[in-house]
Amino acid sequence: MTTQPCQTGCGTPLTPDQERILRERGTEYPGSSPLNHEKRAGSYHCVGCGALLFRSTTKYESGSGWPSFWAAEAGGVATQRDTSHGMVRDEVHCAHCGGHLGHVFPDGPPPTGQRYCVNGLVLDFRPDA
Ligand SMILES: [Zn+2]
Repeated sequence: MTTQPCQTGCGTPLTPDQERILRERGTEYPGSSPLNHEKRAGSYHCVGCGALLFRSTTKYESGSGWPSFWAAEAGGVATQRDTSHGMVRDEVHCAHCGGHLGHVFPDGPPPTGQRYCVNGLVLDFRPDA
């Protein structure tokens, strides 16, 4: 696997773990992301292409061990039915570059009832100025 340069303008190459999640639908270890505890106002972007995916206003503590959101930015993500690992889930990926982000489950809080369970490693958090 080749390491592609980060296209968000940060100049930092994606790490092997980020590549594994984005391109091979990998999953980070639960509880491992510092973004689990990120409470600041800001926006969450795709590390693969820089697209806006989520905002801090929809982030909540799900207790799952992964950063969780009850809604995604309109047009930011797309979903696809995923029947791997003997489960029926809806896979979530970046609508712009197709990079895998995580899964969405129908057990989230109001108003949407959805839980976007996202790997923090593929989120680029940009705090509001
Ligand atoms: Zn992307």
